[in-house]
Amino acid sequence: MQNKIRIMDFVYSSSVDGTGFRDVLFVNYCPHHCEGCHNPESWDKANGHDITIEEAYKNLTKSEITNVTFSGGEPFEQAEALATLADMLKQKGKTIWVYSGYTFEQLIKDPVKLELLKLCDVLVDGRFDINQKGLNMRFKGSHNQRILDVKKSLQSGTAVEADV
Ligand code: SF4
Repeated sequence: MQNKIRIMDFVYSSSVDGTGFRDVLFVNYCPHHCEGCHNPESWDKANGHDITIEEAYKNLTKSEITNVTFSGGEPFEQAEALATLADMLKQKGKTIWVYSGYTFEQLIKDPVKLELLKLCDVLVDGRFDINQKGLNMRFKGSHNQRILDVKKSLQSGTAVEADV
């Protein structure tokens, strides 16, 4: 089992990466290379640094009141380690948002990525499209992206928008 996560940074008590206040883990590496990406330094695997799953868990559970968001970078490129972390966070009562350049339909076809998805509450999916960039949109950058209720989407087998 992979015990390390390659990360860029943590941001604590964010109010722009999902509902409420959330501690955000920005992971390193993204294969999508969207034009206008907000975090292009994450594309290069040489950037960032490794931490253990236990260290990430400690950082994300310092506060009793905040919840958690996985962003990046592309979280699903480190799906196995993040699924272990997500499982620990769920047992602590945290809700989890995850941002991905992959779509829901792509993620459910990959058994490893699906295991991480199952542990998340909300998925913001799809690549950032600069031609569909929106101003003042909540929690996403371009109109093609969707904010999905993971549980309802998995139960129905089709993407269901979250009520946020
Ligand atoms: S998916 Fe996100 S992190 Fe990856 S290139 Fe696109 S905007 Fe950047």
